[in-house]
Amino acid sequence: MPTGLHLLRFRCTGCGNCCRDPLLPITDGDLRRIVDATRLPARDVINWVDRHGIDLPGEPESFVHLRSGRRVMVLRHRRGGCQFLGEDNRCKIYDSRPLGCRIFPFDPEFNRNRKLVRLRLIEATECLYEKDGSNSVAGLYSLHKRTEAELGEYQAKVTEWNRQQKRRIRAGKAASTTTEYLDYLGFE
Ligand code: SF4
Ligand code: SF4
Repeated sequence: MPTGLHLLRFRCTGCGNCCRDPLLPITDGDLRRIVDATRLPARDVINWVDRHGIDLPGEPESFVHLRSGRRVMVLRHRRGGCQFLGEDNRCKIYDSRPLGCRIFPFDPEFNRNRKLVRLRLIEATECLYEKDGSNSVAGLYSLHKRTEAELGEYQAKVTEWNRQQKRRIRAGKAASTTTEYLDYLGFE
């Protein structure tokens, strides 16, 4: 029996706390969906935080070597919350929201046979959920795999970028800027 199976009864009440408190690291795939949906310039969707601004000890591969230092690309906050959170606590870009928003607060673990072995909730904020919901293991598996795959692809790009920056520095040049990084990812 998987640990935490009872959490499949989780139901989001839409309190909006997860859109206010934690900063959300995003991938270029997340950014592409938001830029395409909103027509905002990529630079206006994101912010850059250093290791003091975000608790991400298990993901060193998400830190990008930039002229300003090692930074993580996160969804931009404004006035104490995500800039896409409406007054009514609803997400203004719901259909294009990042994968991290879709899977939150679930943190599932599957074995090689696609069997759920553990389910827990990420404790990044005060999540005012109810326990009368119904979530499918198949749905969680598919979202988890998609999230992992996009993160892996993004981190491979970060690794290659960081390699290029090391070469620049060895050649006596300064590391590149955030604008150049967005250009590298294919954004204007
Ligand atoms: S994109 Fe939407 S769901 Fe994600 S943090 Fe912002 S308001 Fe919340
Ligand atoms: S904090 Fe929990 S209950 Fe509140 S909106 Fe986020 S997922 Fe839903």
